Amino acid sequence: MLVILSSPSGAGKTTLSRRLMAWDPTLRFSVSATTRPPRPGEEDGREYFFRSRAEFEAMVARGEMLEHAEVFGNLYGSPRAPVEAAMAAGRDTLFDIDWQGGQQIKQAMREDVVSIFILPPSIAELERRLHGRAQDSDEVIRGRMAKSEAEISHWAEYDYVIVNDDLDVSEAQLRTILQAERLRRERQPWLADFVRDLNREFDAR
Ligand code: ADP
Ligand code: 5GP
Repeated sequence: MLVILSSPSGAGKTTLSRRLMAWDPTLRFSVSATTRPPRPGEEDGREYFFRSRAEFEAMVARGEMLEHAEVFGNLYGSPRAPVEAAMAAGRDTLFDIDWQGGQQIKQAMREDVVSIFILPPSIAELERRLHGRAQDSDEVIRGRMAKSEAEISHWAEYDYVIVNDDLDVSEAQLRTILQAERLRRERQPWLADFVRDLNREFDAR
């Protein structure tokens, strides 16, 4: 599965994806490339691959991005190779990307996509969280707040929507979604053989 988490900036995607990864170590996080500068504490190759605009554009030109988009004046994109490797190994990938990236991945790989939109409990709380994160300047926060309405307008394009009020509740809801999606018949291709064996057992009685 390709699990896409989107939300307005500050609603809690990063926090929730970290919790999901801690819960399920088989889940792979898609580390995006970006032209935005690192925030304090962010490391190249862990939160993002921090690249110059020229390097980023060269990656796009070589077809190395599964999707890419401009967000808040910077380029962001999901490298293709690690996603394909995870799929070949039967592992699910988690994406923290915006609605533009979500749409591109859905168009390319609809069957494998599970998309989840995270809403804040209120706009006042969204702003409080952006300030509380204390990693962006007031000007950057104003810019992100100004874009929130546009990001939120895409909520209905997603398979699932979570209002992230209480973190523990939201995490439990995300786990439930993953568990249910993994049980979908088409995601258990081994079932046909399994049921054939059950039938053989009937025949042998
Ligand atoms: P995003 O990745 O969507 O931009 P973050 O995960 O960085 O958002 O969250 C923004 C801030 O809000 C962080 O300081 C985080 O600890 C806090 N936060 C996230 N979810 C909640 C929640 N349910 N209740 C209170 N604070 C939260
Ligand atoms: P931030 O700068 O706060 O880490 O991320 C800003 C926005 O860019 C968030 O909405 C985040 O989901 C989005 N984003 C991060 N990586 C990607 C990516 O690879 N592709 C796209 N389309 N959006 C991304």
